[in-house]
Formats: sequence, C-alpha cells, structure tokens
Amino acid sequence: MKVAEVLGSEDAVKVMETLKDTGEITDDEIANKTGIRLNFVRKILYKLYDHSLVSLRRSRDESTGWFIFHWKLQPDQLEGFILTQKRHVLEKLQTRLNYEKGHDFYYCGTAGDNRVTFEEAMELVFHCPTCNKPLMHFDNGKIVEVLSRRVEQLRKELGD
Ligand SMILES: [Zn+2]
Repeated sequence: MKVAEVLGSEDAVKVMETLKDTGEITDDEIANKTGIRLNFVRKILYKLYDHSLVSLRRSRDESTGWFIFHWKLQPDQLEGFILTQKRHVLEKLQTRLNYEKGHDFYYCGTAGDNRVTFEEAMELVFHCPTCNKPLMHFDNGKIVEVLSRRVEQLRKELGD
C-alpha cells in the first residue's frame, strides 16, 4: 500500500488492494469493484506495469472480438521497487542536507517569505526582497538535525 501511495493516489491504493485480494483480474472488474472510472483504472495499471509491479495477459473476447486485459500483482517485484524508491529518497535528502550544511541562511522573520543564502543576502544588502525588512541570520540547526536523522534512518534500512 505504501508503494501505491508513492505512485500517487488513493485510487492507486484501492486498485492495489483489489489486485492483492484476487489472482488475476480484468480492468473492467477492478473498475466495478472499486467504483473508479475505467480510464483511471487503466492509467493506474499502466503505471504499475511500468514499474513491473503487475503483469499483463491479453485475450480476445470471442463474442465481441475485443481484447481483454488480465492483470496480476507481482509481489516479488515489490521489494526491489521499494528499495529503489528509498535510494531515490535518500539521495534527495542527502543533497538537501549538504545544501543546508553548506550554506548560511538569512531571513526577515515575516511568515511566508523565503530565506536567502548569505551570497544572496549580500546582493540584497541584507534586506528582504519581498517585505524590505532587514535580514537576520537564520539558524537551520533544527532542519539539519531532522534531515540527518532521516538520512541515517534510511541508511540503516538500506544497509548502507
Ligand atoms: Zn520579508
């Protein structure tokens, strides 16, 4: 279900649940069971298929001549997918952490205004470009701490 969340929507979670509870199922049946429109069901399935999380078998309906698509969850692919996602998140967090550690930040104190780096603050002569209030040093220690903890946690989970 975490994987379905990564893929983006509550509907994806519903589709995943339906797949989990059945062996092989057609997109039509999934649409009926979940109440999600067939177009969306197919979109989600193709996304899962892109990540090799479901397999697809095609057959022909003898009465209509149309293709029927049968979908099946590939649970053995899930772990690999999760690992890849975690690596991806770890990389992003690490980049962000390096950025936080490598810069000094300045802030005007007005909620909603952005912090700026020291270099930017210099150019702005230490005045906020939005509200024009003087810029003060911004302590990002808490952010660094939270990021470090998450990086460390992911590292552990990945066995790095
Ligand atoms: Zn401001």
